[in-house]
Amino acid sequence: MAVERTLAILKPDCVKKNLAGEVLSRIEKAGFKVLAMKIVRLTKETAGGFYAVHRERPFFGELTTFMSSGKCVPIALEKENAVADFRKLIGATDPKDADPGTVRRDLASSKGENIVHGSDSPENGRIEIGFFFSDKELIENM
Ligand code: UDP
Ligand code: MG
Repeated sequence: MAVERTLAILKPDCVKKNLAGEVLSRIEKAGFKVLAMKIVRLTKETAGGFYAVHRERPFFGELTTFMSSGKCVPIALEKENAVADFRKLIGATDPKDADPGTVRRDLASSKGENIVHGSDSPENGRIEIGFFFSDKELIENM
């Protein structure tokens, strides 16, 4: 299996519910290496840029309002098979469909407010990490 990078975002509901530490702990216990992490407040426009692929979807307005409603914590992660393993850790988009023990099943309240983002391919992982972090912010040797 290849070493991959993926972008996690602890979403505003996660930060507001004081669950950032809980989710980061699960990420660390699952063996992901944290390359970089920061706290940001997105504007609705910046959130729309990040989720541009969903621009035509009916939930786009709600999604960008939610993602700009409070602080987010983007985290650049590295691990073998990182993309699929991270999506397994967080579970399906809708917490009702997520497997027991996943982050979204345990902690999320709805399909929209679902605690955490995870990239959907290694290519998008690199693109999405680049949305929040410069190369020199990605610290590999620790
Ligand atoms: N979303 C939503 N309603 C939907 C589908 C998605 O509000 O019907 C939101 C939700 O916050 C989700 C995000 O849009 O995490 C991106 O959707 P995607 O299908 O990429 O889900 P993900 O990859 O986050 O599981
Ligand atoms: Mg997605």
